Amino acid sequence: MKYEVLVIGGGGASYPGAFRLSKAGKTVIMADPKGVLGGNCLYQGCIPSKTIREMAELHLRSKRFFANISPNFELIQDHKDKVQEKRFKQHDEEIKENNVEFVKGEVQVTGDKTAKIIGEKEVDVEFNYLILGTGSEPFVPRIPGSEHCITSDDLYKYKTEIRKLPSSMVIIGGGYIALETATIFKALGTEVHVLVRSDKILRSIDQRLVEILKKMIDPEIDIKFNSPVLEVEKNGNELKVTFSQKGEKKEIITEKVVMATGRKPVLPKGFEKLGVKVSQKGVEVDESIRTNIPYVFAPGDVNGISPYFHSAVRQSLVASRNILTGRNTDFVNFSSIPVTVFTIPPIAYVGIITNRDSSVIEASYKFERDSRAQIYDELEGEVRLFFEKGSLRALGGWVAGIDAPSLINEIGYAVHNGLTAKQMAEFADQHPMSNESITNAVRSII
Ligand SMILES: Cc1cc2nc3c(=O)[nH]c(=O)nc-3n(C[C@H](O)[C@H](O)[C@H](O)COP(=O)(O)OP(=O)(O)OC[C@H]3O[C@@H](n4cnc5c(N)ncnc54)[C@H](O)[C@@H]3O)c2cc1C
Repeated sequence: MKYEVLVIGGGGASYPGAFRLSKAGKTVIMADPKGVLGGNCLYQGCIPSKTIREMAELHLRSKRFFANISPNFELIQDHKDKVQEKRFKQHDEEIKENNVEFVKGEVQVTGDKTAKIIGEKEVDVEFNYLILGTGSEPFVPRIPGSEHCITSDDLYKYKTEIRKLPSSMVIIGGGYIALETATIFKALGTEVHVLVRSDKILRSIDQRLVEILKKMIDPEIDIKFNSPVLEVEKNGNELKVTFSQKGEKKEIITEKVVMATGRKPVLPKGFEKLGVKVSQKGVEVDESIRTNIPYVFAPGDVNGISPYFHSAVRQSLVASRNILTGRNTDFVNFSSIPVTVFTIPPIAYVGIITNRDSSVIEASYKFERDSRAQIYDELEGEVRLFFEKGSLRALGGWVAGIDAPSLINEIGYAVHNGLTAKQMAEFADQHPMSNESITNAVRSII
């Protein structure tokens, strides 16, 4: 069958673009072996992990004011599954509304403009354009006994078998999935150890911000730096994790070991037939999301530039627009895409947040002075904004602490639209909301 556009995958990098193209009159076929839309984010990533996170934060907040509360983890997992089901159904309706042909199956590339879908039905596809939205999967290093470990997929997936709260957990890795999982499970009552190979956590994030986070998270989370894991052994229901520290072998006995050691791009079988360039990070694209092969676009995690759902969505829409216009008319501004680490408490940042020379002016406001932070008695952290000297144009900002994932959107909007400190200060942020900290920070420098 001939289609104008083949979309591989059903995640955030795929369906927004597929819908837009179909609405504009293009013939579109999309396939994913999951048989549902939402990709990794909905099936085993953002939505399930954040459902559990929100319940864990609610638990912590409740514990502060109402005694003798303990979380019902099975109920939380049931709720998580229900949220996922609701969203799967919502996406099913969207497929119909947008008139996209969706096949449950895996795509294999068979030629430079041909592919085969193998699944609930077999379809030979000829296409003019390809959207490669195959995403990423956990990277599991070769450690003896790694088969006894679980990944975030096992922990958060739809209808996971893990329905009893683990009494103890060792998390291997120092990235955002490791840290989020550590704080979520600690808040629910699990004893948590984090083993980090190097001397840093969240290596890709400005370490000034990371230092604030380190002071905010529960000090009972045992983070061991410079502690590479040597082996994981199973003894009955227990796991023994052996790691090295300062040249000595040490052990932790635990119920679960979570391998959170990064992610790697997923490429379809026959991918090499396309002639698309790949680097260590992933498929190479420019800001138009086009690869070196002009009719192949690779939005989302598969390119490894900005592995977040909202970024995948934006990239998908840019790819679809450039397919519709037949040239590069839309571009992703990667530097204005906000990033949140949904730890408890969270941190978030957007744009330029370093100040290595004197061309940047910083403005900050501590949450200890913020009314909403006082209402919740969550006084740690701050809002910090970065402006270009002279013009006072917003370059970036970070939020550490209460409501960081929401507040960063307001800052991101200012950065994306090149607003100045004066323009930001003219906005009446609502009271008593933590957004007031943004304008309070701005007012401190004008
Ligand atoms: C635990 C966890 C928590 C996360 N939390 C957040 C968060 O809070 N916020 C956030 O923004 N991001 C979060 N992310 C990241 C987010 O999930 C990804 O950035 C996002 O899902 C990327 O979308 P994508 O469409 O590029 O890839 P994916 O969502 O991975 O989708 C790719 C799809 O392609 C399909 N596929 C692969 N190969 C083929 C093939 N050959 N044929 C057909 N289909 C194929 C796969 O089945 C998959 O469904 C989280 C990730 C994890 C693991």
